[in-house]
Amino acid sequence: MNNFFHTKIEFLKGVGPQRAELLQKELNIYTYGDLIQHYPFRYLDRTQFYKIAELDESMPYVQVRGRVRGKEVLGEGKKQRLAATLVDEDGSEMELVWFKGVKWMQKTLKNHTDYIVFGKPTSFNGKWNMAHPELEELAEEKQTAAFLQPVYHTTEKLKAFRVESKTISRIMEMLLKVAVPNINETLSPDLIDHYRLMSKRDALINIHFPQSVEKYNAAKFRLKFEELFYIQLRLLRQKTVRRADLAGQVFKQVPTVTEFYKNHMTFDLTNAQKRVIREIHKDLTAGKQMNRLLQGDVGSGKTIVAFITMLIAADNGAQSVLMAPTEILADQHYTGLKEFADRLGINIGKLTGSTKTKDRKVLHEQLRSGEMKMIVGTHALLEDVVQFHNLGLCIVDEQHRFGVEQRSKLWRKNPRIIPHVLVMTATPIPRTLAMTLYGDLDVSVIDEMPAGRKEIVTVHRFDSHRLKVFQFVRDQIKLGRQVYIVYPLIEESEGMDYKDLMDGYESVRRAFPEHQVSMVHGKLKAQDKDYEMQRFVRNETQIMVATTVIEVGVNVPNASVMIIESAERFGLSQLHQLRGRVGRGAEQSYCILMTGYKLSKDSKTRLETMVRTNNGFEIADIDLKLRGPGDLMGTQQSGVLDLLIADLAKDAPILQEARAAAQRVLNEDPQLDQPQHQNIMRHIKSLSVNTINWSRIS
Ligand code: ADP
Ligand code: MG
Repeated sequence: MNNFFHTKIEFLKGVGPQRAELLQKELNIYTYGDLIQHYPFRYLDRTQFYKIAELDESMPYVQVRGRVRGKEVLGEGKKQRLAATLVDEDGSEMELVWFKGVKWMQKTLKNHTDYIVFGKPTSFNGKWNMAHPELEELAEEKQTAAFLQPVYHTTEKLKAFRVESKTISRIMEMLLKVAVPNINETLSPDLIDHYRLMSKRDALINIHFPQSVEKYNAAKFRLKFEELFYIQLRLLRQKTVRRADLAGQVFKQVPTVTEFYKNHMTFDLTNAQKRVIREIHKDLTAGKQMNRLLQGDVGSGKTIVAFITMLIAADNGAQSVLMAPTEILADQHYTGLKEFADRLGINIGKLTGSTKTKDRKVLHEQLRSGEMKMIVGTHALLEDVVQFHNLGLCIVDEQHRFGVEQRSKLWRKNPRIIPHVLVMTATPIPRTLAMTLYGDLDVSVIDEMPAGRKEIVTVHRFDSHRLKVFQFVRDQIKLGRQVYIVYPLIEESEGMDYKDLMDGYESVRRAFPEHQVSMVHGKLKAQDKDYEMQRFVRNETQIMVATTVIEVGVNVPNASVMIIESAERFGLSQLHQLRGRVGRGAEQSYCILMTGYKLSKDSKTRLETMVRTNNGFEIADIDLKLRGPGDLMGTQQSGVLDLLIADLAKDAPILQEARAAAQRVLNEDPQLDQPQHQNIMRHIKSLSVNTINWSRIS
């Protein structure tokens, strides 16, 4: 946008200094540009007229045409109100009521006159009512045109100062009057043509004041497309820059990898694992720095892929780190990797917050000398004292829990040449999100489970069937299996939840006097937690009562039953993660979701989804639709999701097109300096100048 849109809003007619300050504080609106991008979040449908006989309590706002017949003031003092009767062309009646401004309404409302009334219909004793409807006299020709009425976000504070949606709408009208000649096209003629897009000018007019439903839809599409296009363009350009500029170590040697394949593998890799390793290997030999995201559902076998990647680094004289967000996860990775490393006699270490000073010294020393080839750990790895001989590969697990700043600390541990990066996540991210969050990374997906894995059987049971569920547990334990029972504990300190957990533990102990029961929760000391976990791992206890601390923690192949209490309180992705704790062995595994009878619509959808599918990607997609991207794990700190108009849950098809378009433009003109792309270049420049706006995005 040009300079005009950098004008401060206080200069706009109808705003002034006081409102300007409010709009800045409450809605982050500083300039004309900010204001024009304060899009309505919904519209009231004023295109349709209803007959009174068609009304239905579930309708939000409706408009009805009719004639006012009779009005009278009823009640006294505070209870005083004005009631009028509206009769439509069929002769059906509805009462209109005002509790405020009674006198004024009584004066202005004209008897025996045709009106359009607009409001929320309610029915009382079989009679329809509408309180404080908006009114328009039918005689006024132009006002009767059908339209969508914009509704804008405001805040309580703004409302207190009489800045309501209507006020913003009026201000917007003022703005558009002066702004329209200044609105420049921001996409290239080519794109406009190819995607049959509405012009920027018409789009801005119609998003605020739709001239018809069709034009509104075209405006919405155009603005969403543009928003997603510029995000993708930015990500794809970053990717190109990195490709071109950042050299990476070349890892050509693979002697130990070959030996490992030949003599030490105890299973065959799945085709998906093989494909992913090929993709990684290609990156590692290309001379460019690798930046790859590895996605794979729980149990899909990411650890072995990580290990082989680390092995390739080791074969070429480079060290590698695997960083996990929690101690428990670091432990699990270490155990997994050490098993492989030991077969080859490779020196692998673990460094976490609880590593003893004495052991730390040794680790630091061996990392600096290059004697230690692989290290697994937590944040402790980031400390400055941790230095490497030649760090060549960083693997980060569950990366969303690390900030950008933290991660870059790792990269800088090789001052000569930036290490290759592999980001692993077990939280399947819907494609649309992955494209936006990680659009600058290459993506590999393990979309296949190791052979012989039995699908986990998932069922939903009501609390009233607990006795039957317990009998099932008893039978499973008789067969030699172990069982998890998980309670929701949103905040580990929450009193009620904690009590539920304790009560649950007691009742489980009473129900299974013949078995040992463990309990693990966040209030336990790390060593007590570990002790209980270990007992369960060794099958000294058969039942593990726990909170979600076990979500990512343990790997007990003999545990084959997962019972989730108050399952309606968990998010879908979390339920899926918990379920992933079972189904790790050869036996048939079960997941039982317990709930009471009272369930919300969303809860029902979550439970049904769990019962229907084991596919993490499908689940992630549904989770995204239910919750919106803002709540999804890992998206919070990512500014890219602060979208003005596009919605990643709903706009996947537009996103695909926008990305393809961005790619096409860059293929054609990587520097964006050809004349047909001048709109795009100008817009990018203005985006980076307009810091206030941009700070919201980056
Ligand atoms: P995740 O992707 O959740 O990290 P893991 O790497 O922990 O999964 O693998 C889960 C289990 O499956 C481990 O016990 C691992 O040894 C085993 N596994 C991995 N790949 C295969 C395979 N191709 N065939 C058989 N078992 C495998
Ligand atoms: Mg894992």
